[in-house]
Amino acid sequence: MSSSSLHRQAVAQIDRGADLIGLAPQYRAILGQPKNEVIVNFPVQLDDGTWRSVRGYRIQHNNILGPFKGGMRFDEGVDLDEVKALAAWMTIKCSLVGLPLGGAKGGVAIDPSALSEDELRRVVRRFTAALGSNIGPDHDIPAPDMGTDARVMDWMMDTYANMSGPERRNSVKGVVTGKSIICGGSVGREEATGRGVLYALRHWCGEHDRVLDGLDIVVQGFGNVGRHFARLAAESGARIIAVGDHTGAIGDPSGLDVHKLGLHVDEHRGVAGFGAADVIDDLFAVEADVVAPCALENQITESVARNLRCEVVVEGANGPTTPEADAVLAGAGIDVIPDVLANAGGVIVSYFEWLQNRSARAWSADDVDERQRSMMWDAADAVSAAAAEYGASYRDAAYAVALARLADTYDRRGIFP
Ligand code: GLU
Repeated sequence: MSSSSLHRQAVAQIDRGADLIGLAPQYRAILGQPKNEVIVNFPVQLDDGTWRSVRGYRIQHNNILGPFKGGMRFDEGVDLDEVKALAAWMTIKCSLVGLPLGGAKGGVAIDPSALSEDELRRVVRRFTAALGSNIGPDHDIPAPDMGTDARVMDWMMDTYANMSGPERRNSVKGVVTGKSIICGGSVGREEATGRGVLYALRHWCGEHDRVLDGLDIVVQGFGNVGRHFARLAAESGARIIAVGDHTGAIGDPSGLDVHKLGLHVDEHRGVAGFGAADVIDDLFAVEADVVAPCALENQITESVARNLRCEVVVEGANGPTTPEADAVLAGAGIDVIPDVLANAGGVIVSYFEWLQNRSARAWSADDVDERQRSMMWDAADAVSAAAAEYGASYRDAAYAVALARLADTYDRRGIFP
């Protein structure tokens, strides 16, 4: 494993939280590795008639609190180390926000944008079939992540349902979350992560005598998370002064028109070329109140952190800040609202979707919103209290809270046999 191992980074974060609460060594050992690592290779026929062997992963980190839960990432760079880290973060995230769910993550090493719709559907169906009984509504419940969406979740659910007996075909809908509403999804799931990022930021504002109205925000990523966060923040009166993605970065000090930017991105698959804005060379050097990395891991490195000019970083993405950068930010007095708190809104509403599937009842948008807000708020309160108690960063405090709940559960249940 190289020194840049993302999994090693996740374990180091667990260790820091563990040190704060004096976590027993046996729990550190358990949480230092995933329980199960499922790797499948399966053939997929491309539209030109040729075949390609595709590798897929499902890493099940921990299920002491409930069924394994976490997204499926479709990206050329997906590898075992990355998915192991992402799975561990799901365990921490679910525990932190008080969900009766464990942690998992999966993915396929493929660029979905290079596939036709038919090819993508064949990948999803073969992958789901290859996973077989490794997933299930009471066992391991996938969801969207980078490169996947409701369409992919609908195909996963349909494939799994067709592989189940006819009498179970409808009761297994909760095998994945993030489905389209008509296929059993929940209202509010699509924007849930971005909405949760906004709640986390609002909570931070409340504790720092700030208001969202008038805050200047820089956003990296305009996908599943960043797009909704930017829109909702702008609706709350914040100014989105710069947005960057894989195509480039654009900005406007008086605030971008996020709606128009969304239409541009739909058409051009990226923010570059958005006419009503300036081109920006260095997104993270833009002076702002808030920086919201909502794209990939390892974006805020040590050198990027040295140039940041903001008060708070709110992590919409998983793992966007390296440990070295964390140290720089702490030294500079820049707060970091950690991923396991800031982006937990997605898995919270996934849990609501799973509950709705189990009871075959649909909740209203107000129900979803109010319950999501209250879970995020309670978690943010717990993190702030732990940060004050231990004199720790929000990240270390979040891990301390999550690990204490896991340890409490293990203490009561014991370790089998
Ligand atoms: N992929 C999202 C995350 O990283 C959502 C997971 C879920 O809804 O299960 O939190």
